[in-house]
Amino acid sequence: MVVQKMYINNQWVLSSSGETREIINPANEEVIAVVTEGTIEDTQAAIQAAHDAFYREGWGETHARLRAELLFKLADRLEGEIEAFAQIETLNNGKPLRESSYDIEDAVNQLRYYAGLATKPSGQVYDVPDDIQAFVVREPVGVAGLIVPWNYPLVMAVQKIAPALAAGCSIVIKPAEQTPLSLIKLFELIDEVEFAPGVVNLVLGAGATVGAELASNPQVDKIAFTGGTVTGKKIMKSAADTLKNISLELGGKSPNIVFEDADFETAVDYALYAIFANQGQVCSAGSRLILQESLYDRFIPELVKRAQAIRVGDGTDPDTEMGPLISKPHMEKVLAYIEKGKEEGAELLCGGDKLYDKGYFVAPTIFANTKPDMAIVREEIFGPVLVVQTFKDEAEAIQLANDSDYGLAGAVFTNDGAKAQRVIRKLRAGITWINAYHPTFNEAPWGGYKQSGIGRELGTFGLEAFQEVKQVNINLNVQPTGWFKG
Ligand code: NAD
Repeated sequence: MVVQKMYINNQWVLSSSGETREIINPANEEVIAVVTEGTIEDTQAAIQAAHDAFYREGWGETHARLRAELLFKLADRLEGEIEAFAQIETLNNGKPLRESSYDIEDAVNQLRYYAGLATKPSGQVYDVPDDIQAFVVREPVGVAGLIVPWNYPLVMAVQKIAPALAAGCSIVIKPAEQTPLSLIKLFELIDEVEFAPGVVNLVLGAGATVGAELASNPQVDKIAFTGGTVTGKKIMKSAADTLKNISLELGGKSPNIVFEDADFETAVDYALYAIFANQGQVCSAGSRLILQESLYDRFIPELVKRAQAIRVGDGTDPDTEMGPLISKPHMEKVLAYIEKGKEEGAELLCGGDKLYDKGYFVAPTIFANTKPDMAIVREEIFGPVLVVQTFKDEAEAIQLANDSDYGLAGAVFTNDGAKAQRVIRKLRAGITWINAYHPTFNEAPWGGYKQSGIGRELGTFGLEAFQEVKQVNINLNVQPTGWFKG
């Protein structure tokens, strides 16, 4: 197999170590590609290229219109290849094709959104005393290191690439080691679009080497990271030495609260979608169903029946509704949580097993009779495992929902509008829904409270995450102050 390369300073390059990594299709465990395995030295070369592009070659001072044109061009090329990209995403990540297609369309939309935003007015003028005209301009933060996970390989990458380039940063991006293929293919399009050398760089390799170098290298001004909370804490520590600007999009254990007066069909449907979309490998997954006790006997049998009917299989089969987990170690981690749940005394209502001989498939799993201190209730499993908690009244629902170290997302289902808003107001989470779960828009901010992260992506917030704010004061009355008399 041809070894796929990194992209540094507009050149396709192999790792300085000559090492490679096999990329696996999680649906059948077959090797689908071999990629070069980057080193710390390769990462330093990419950072140097990005640094030169920004500080020496003038990328940081380009006009927004030029940056917008490049991003629009990239969007057009990506749009022309949605199906090819979706195929790669499904082969590499396992998710069903309809989800992959949706993801690539989303990435096209992100590129266009930020291309448009780049040229829109920004900054403010302040009415201050003393004959001073004060205003604020926004400038690119500099060299940005972007580190992304495997659950949405292309979307998570473009969600950072588009605003970073729109803002005028130069970038070095690292995909998750399991899922580099769609991003490598995106760089073929980036190469065609002809950004100046060093503006957009791709490094491949392990988090502990390539990722850690990005997070600690003094020539990197900004780190934008999406991934696990444990890794996020490490990155924050590494970035502290040079006080980098950081954005962290981390894990979650999000509550989905269903009241007895909710529209029954809608609430059951979304409860499934909340946890089993993308095999439960969604940071904002509704992994805790917080259900009003009075609804339990009607809701749970229907939920279990429908979970058992989910078609689990190879994502390339158009009939597949849920694919495999990303890797063997991850599948084993999810299965270990299921065992832990049983040991802790939770009641397994369905699923719990590995499916099929080949591939990393786990059946949709639901636990009931849980207690708030159980590991399966407190920790992010990041798989198709739902835990059910029950409540008597509104106050208890809110208390259970907020009883978490995380605060990424949450939803409430009820036909009582005032109650819905009271609950949302009390929820300590960054992304919330009323009578829905999961719809996410590039126009609106994304990010978490508590240990789910720092900062926001998407929308105007996403652009601001890659900008510095500069205050400018112009003296309109040019004469000495007379402060010192001598
Ligand atoms: P992970 O933290 O293991 O890895 C994420 C990325 O960080 C990978 O590219 C990895 O190589 C890199 N990395 C690992 N160790 C590193 C280190 N020491 N220094 C620098 N980089 C390092 O996470 P994952 O398993 O790939 O992804 C799953 C996690 O991501 C889940 O916890 C999920 O909730 C979270 N996530 C959050 C969001 C969000 O928007 N909040 C979105 C998607 C995923």
